[in-house]
Amino acid sequence: MTITKKGRVFSGARPTGRQHLGNYLGAIKNYVALQEEYQCVYSIVDIHALTTVETTENLRQNIYEMALDWLAAGIRPEESIMFVQSQVPEVTELHMFFSMVTPLGKLTDLPTFKEKARQQPHNINYGLVGYPVLMAADIALYKADAVPVGVDQAPHIEFTREVVRSFNFRYNTNVLVEPQMKATEFPKVVGIDGQQKMSKSLNNHIELASTPDETRARVMQMVTDPQRMRRSDPGNPDICNVFSLHKVFSSPEEVAMIDTECRRAGIGCVDCKQRFAKNLNLSLEPFREKRVALSDKPERVWEILDDGRQRASQIAQQTIRDVKDAIGLP
Ligand code: ADP
Repeated sequence: MTITKKGRVFSGARPTGRQHLGNYLGAIKNYVALQEEYQCVYSIVDIHALTTVETTENLRQNIYEMALDWLAAGIRPEESIMFVQSQVPEVTELHMFFSMVTPLGKLTDLPTFKEKARQQPHNINYGLVGYPVLMAADIALYKADAVPVGVDQAPHIEFTREVVRSFNFRYNTNVLVEPQMKATEFPKVVGIDGQQKMSKSLNNHIELASTPDETRARVMQMVTDPQRMRRSDPGNPDICNVFSLHKVFSSPEEVAMIDTECRRAGIGCVDCKQRFAKNLNLSLEPFREKRVALSDKPERVWEILDDGRQRASQIAQQTIRDVKDAIGLP
């Protein structure tokens, strides 16, 4: 039986190596679920990474580790296209065509650009300004109907829609598709510090591929309700990061029990965290088993990425042909 899919989804993420709980809940879990209804194209966007990384020494390893995590989490490479951005160079061509219909002021006004420029004032390169143009090219190249992203990426999707509209208007065509944004359910997973967004660069993350012991040690460092000083103080689960993750990884009965008991100091933070570590490790068990099995044959991962490259190239080459025809290029 062939399943009729609703359309095509595209998403890309920079190769940051081993993925953490934030990546999982904010992106990967959604990537896996979307496969049921959409034809999915998932890209490891290594060219994007060049705008911010200081060294490319670990780039290959990071691509490999990330691909491994995606596969172990349930991306089905026979069905979905999983590939490395730089291996389908048509994206750079479309990026160049898009740059002709992009007002510079629009790029420098984007909040994400301003933030990056603040973070790396000595390295505001041309590529950094053009990041959203390359992202628009990524999405439009695969004629994606929908893009799953966190809220912080919303301005980029709106920007992509504008670029596609400008392109289609400028060349009096409709070859390119204006994508819709698909908001993720979990836009912000907070790190073990209990405050900032979980991120590798802040070292407040919990890696999916860690051992159960490493995971437990990390969980035990998590900051809970900051107003609860002593074991005898009642806690407030509504402001506790551990509780918000319990809601994802623990049974409804256990969540309800913690909710009640925490509020009347019936359960302490240590016990609460131990329970969370146990449930998290249990949930991650199938992922970890699959990851170990896959990592036995690293060449298989590269073969999957190469197969993805071939299938992505077919779509990309057709789009570039359509785009060139629309522009009037030979
Ligand atoms: P990128 O710059 O390519 O978005 P990241 O590693 O920052 O690379 O993120 C990859 C994906 O994981 C993105 O979709 C991002 O929104 C999601 N993500 C990363 N960290 C978190 C977090 N702490 N909470 C929710 N989602 C996150």
